[in-house]
Amino acid sequence: MPKTLAFLYHEVIDDYSESGFQNKDNLAYMHKTEVFRNHLEIYSNHLKINELKKVDQILFTFDDGGISNLKSAQILEEFGLKGMYFITTKRIGTKGFLAKEDILNLHNSGHIIGSHSHTHPMIFRSLNYEKMVEEWKTSKQILEEIIDEEILYASVPGGDSDLKTYQSASEAGISFVFDSEPILESRFSEDSEIFGRFSVKSQTSDQEFRDMLELSNLSRLQRNRRIKSMIKKIIFPIHQYIQNKKND
Ligand SMILES: [Zn+2]
Repeated sequence: MPKTLAFLYHEVIDDYSESGFQNKDNLAYMHKTEVFRNHLEIYSNHLKINELKKVDQILFTFDDGGISNLKSAQILEEFGLKGMYFITTKRIGTKGFLAKEDILNLHNSGHIIGSHSHTHPMIFRSLNYEKMVEEWKTSKQILEEIIDEEILYASVPGGDSDLKTYQSASEAGISFVFDSEPILESRFSEDSEIFGRFSVKSQTSDQEFRDMLELSNLSRLQRNRRIKSMIKKIIFPIHQYIQNKKND
């Protein structure tokens, strides 16, 4: 089974107030440009020494569609790399988010454009199935009009997903779905392939990032994720209410 190490980033920007969703929780997902550049240095050195021995591919993915995507794309390009950008389509052209031309430019520069749903419901799996399909379809269609190519990639907003999430994406014609489970091997659901991702947070140290590349902290990350989802399940009704109030 091929292994994919997909990193999940959000904003890469020096002034956090300029890009993406502005709520307190999102601070955990913001990186200064210097920190991101450091990660790419570490990545490049890692590849020089280790090549791709433990995994088959390493991906840099970015959620939300904040204006800072232009910055992270530019830094990736300095390293000869491309990113995958998942766009919240309802936000296109609004303050702090990419405009249509920006998305087209990213696409023309060789980055992959995907959907991050239309409205970014914080707990996607709390939607009913029809609503899920509608979120994917609307977003896919808007992006297809912008880049004039089929949109095959999507990432799940909020990171919480279930079988319905994957099935609805598949029904909407999404072939590759990225969630936030720290898993290297892809899974399959209907006609879609599901990829896990490893969230790089603002508190992730250079050493932790190196450990992620080496896969040396894999079991710890997976255990933490399991504990987190267990807690979420217990407090689900409250959690759902609070989360869905965000980004309104
Ligand atoms: Zn998001």
